[in-house]
Amino acid sequence: MSFSVFKTDQWQKLTFNKKKEALQELENEMAEKQGRTARNIETARLPMDGYYDGIRASGSLFINENYLKVDCKNYEAMEIIIHEGRHAYQDDAIVAYIADSIETCGLNNKPDILVIASWMRNLLVYNQPHGGLVSKIRYRFQPRERDAFDYAYDEMQSFVALFSGDTFFRGYIDDKTLIREDWKSKEEVFLSSVNSSSSCEDYCSKDTFDMYNIFVKKYCKILFTSYGESHHIFL
Ligand SMILES: [Zn+2]
Repeated sequence: MSFSVFKTDQWQKLTFNKKKEALQELENEMAEKQGRTARNIETARLPMDGYYDGIRASGSLFINENYLKVDCKNYEAMEIIIHEGRHAYQDDAIVAYIADSIETCGLNNKPDILVIASWMRNLLVYNQPHGGLVSKIRYRFQPRERDAFDYAYDEMQSFVALFSGDTFFRGYIDDKTLIREDWKSKEEVFLSSVNSSSSCEDYCSKDTFDMYNIFVKKYCKILFTSYGESHHIFL
């Protein structure tokens, strides 16, 4: 696709449905780049920017419809789709690992088993960004979110040359970089609170919990074989 459709002067001319189509094409491109199946983009009235309806259901990427109703949230909308799509990649890696097909599943830049394990465990002890600063920090730096935020940030940076003539893009990047630096300064707080995260039963579904148990069995077996028994404590 031509990503230039996301430039502010072109984005402003698109109808709601054309904006949605552009975001679907972006997801298709990102999925191809990552070697995974593209998900459907859905718009909805949401209390948050977006989410990925993962393993349990349709697997769609949802974006808050407000991002398509205004003309100046083009780059934020791109970032949301890239971020949520990265969660799809994380889940595809988990599913492929459980199915013993991580080597043949087609995913590009396959993550290390320890990284996949951290994503799996995070499904169980997922921290919602509700409440005060500490819960927002726990949300931002848990393994799945840290990875998705970093990935989306890097991908958006890769468009600097293409969108260089657009002052909206420069403003977007400047804002994001400031926010990112601010988060980094809070990371220490997160590291001191990481040992008191929520318990899994509060959040996860039975499907996720069952999958986790299968994962643990396979994962421990691999670690016992490869690294020795003590490493299972990483999970
Ligand atoms: Zn996320």
